Amino acid sequence: MVEIVLEELKKNNLYRKLKTIEEVDGVRVKIGGKWFVNFSSNDYLNLAFDKTVANEHIKCLKNWGTGAGASRLITGNFQIHEVLEKELAKLKKTEAALLFSTGYMANIGILSSIMGKDDVIFSDKLNHASIIDGCKLSKAKIFVYEHNNTENLKTLLERERKRFKSACIVTDSVFSMDGDIAPLDELFELSLKYDTYFVVDDAHATGVIGYSSFEIFNITPAENTVIMGTLGKALGTFGAFVASTETLRKFFINKARSFIFTTALPPHIACATLYNLKLIPERMEKLKKNIELFQKLTGFKSKTAIFPVVVGDSQKALDISEKLFKSGFIIPAIRPPTVPEKTSRLRITLSAGHTEEDIINLTDTLNKLI
Ligand SMILES: *Cc1c(COP(=O)(O)O)cnc(C)c1O
Repeated sequence: MVEIVLEELKKNNLYRKLKTIEEVDGVRVKIGGKWFVNFSSNDYLNLAFDKTVANEHIKCLKNWGTGAGASRLITGNFQIHEVLEKELAKLKKTEAALLFSTGYMANIGILSSIMGKDDVIFSDKLNHASIIDGCKLSKAKIFVYEHNNTENLKTLLERERKRFKSACIVTDSVFSMDGDIAPLDELFELSLKYDTYFVVDDAHATGVIGYSSFEIFNITPAENTVIMGTLGKALGTFGAFVASTETLRKFFINKARSFIFTTALPPHIACATLYNLKLIPERMEKLKKNIELFQKLTGFKSKTAIFPVVVGDSQKALDISEKLFKSGFIIPAIRPPTVPEKTSRLRITLSAGHTEEDIINLTDTLNKLI
């Protein structure tokens, strides 16, 4: 059975395997004894592999140890967790925030706790897998609306909302495979009008397009708002958080099973994240410059750090990715089920760590290959 599945995947060019990185220095990685420029990391602010930053984090390790030793509700809740939570709440302009061990766990925790079998979830078609899994786990009725289509969502809300007890609209703010931005202002308005929760996944927005995606729409989170942010992407460490009202925070502490039944985020990670937060403004400026340069050179339109180059066919995407690899760039082919059928693509992500030369070299190579 397992062998058949693997053969089937290989036949359809959908088989995946791991790449082993032997050494790393910022955006540069060594694989098979050769150095490459990484254009596919989510380390947008170049914080994860910065030796000067790591030197500061050593103090965190010395003060807080290597592990939490228990779940938050037993003896794994440290003051440094709470200090970080207060800072993260400030970034998202909410009353409170609660750390989770990963973004995946945060999303399944939010959705499976606030939604139940008598409830309804309206979910964007291109939402992240962790949102989809959270929806399923909740046992709520799920309606998937067309990507970023508020008219379609409105029709569904009008037709379905009244039949259910609680409701929720859930969306990525920056979509992970397309780099486009959800119309948060319109979605927020609909959430208020139809009395639903508004759950926003800010994984690729936090520290990239600002501190919070709500900033760019000039909207302020309300009582119905839950914003999930990750620490493992732009913030350069590991873990995630959920920003909400104080009441919802209490609710998640009591009801989100992926918060309750797992070991707490190591406190030194909270400490390191607090350090990294101070570096955001300067690094975000550098990232913005890189995004502008890449846009100017290629004509690509993305407003975020994610640039999809859709080629359609999986084999073709793999071929181009292989050629880029031979030219010294790491840009994997993203294939179904990560993206919809026939939309296989190369997904380029920029980082504050790329030099102007890196970006010019990549553009030249892309021009030759595509
Ligand atoms: C990466 C990601 C997650 C999961 O976060 P982890 O901390 O890596 O588990 C959730 N949602 C989106 C949109 C993501 O890109």
